[in-house]
Amino acid sequence: MEADRWEGSRLSCPRFPAQTARVPADTRFPTRENDVSIPEMLRRWPVLRQVRDGDVLALGLTARSPRSEELRARTEDAERVVPSVCPYCAVGCGQRIFVRGGGITSIEGDPASPISRGRLCPKGSATRSLVEAPGREYTVRYRPPHGQEWEDLPLDRAMDMIADRVIAARSQGWEERDADGNRLRRTLGFGSLGGATLDNEENYLIKKLFTALGAIQIENQARI
Ligand code: SF4
Repeated sequence: MEADRWEGSRLSCPRFPAQTARVPADTRFPTRENDVSIPEMLRRWPVLRQVRDGDVLALGLTARSPRSEELRARTEDAERVVPSVCPYCAVGCGQRIFVRGGGITSIEGDPASPISRGRLCPKGSATRSLVEAPGREYTVRYRPPHGQEWEDLPLDRAMDMIADRVIAARSQGWEERDADGNRLRRTLGFGSLGGATLDNEENYLIKKLFTALGAIQIENQARI
């Protein structure tokens, strides 16, 4: 049935004959081969429909075809909508994630977000491809020194290892006083370089944490 509907429905561009567009039969203007009666042709004529329906700008019913009348939003049958924030950049646009059957059916901008007010850039609109990427890792991956293979680590174990290394690096790079005896109380054992994904709140917390630890090299990519 679907194939019949599209049968013979290619329209070619007079300027670029190689370019064609597929138009469903029920939205094409009646032609002789469609064998449409004159009254029916007049009934479908957009200008008359505009006048008849009071749709002067052709932004209402006149703009609809039988096909577009049947279209349904892919978000319509979602079982729940989860509010989220776009993971890509520091703008932090609000997202609404539509879920059905345990899977994502669509991710759209959240009109309630004071930052983005329902908008998403093309990258943010494609967040679903990040969430459902077949190569996405769901566990911590660790390759030990001189190791040849990556290993899976439980998250708690990985966090403990990071904490141990931060404490050790802080101690090893600690400077209590300079050569003249002036008090420094700082560490050169580590620094922080934030990326563009970090938003204001995350940068605030990172700055607070690293300053409290005694680090002095604290930067963000946005300032480079
Ligand atoms: S990547 Fe685009 S949608 Fe996502 S937060 Fe940045 S501007 Fe917003």
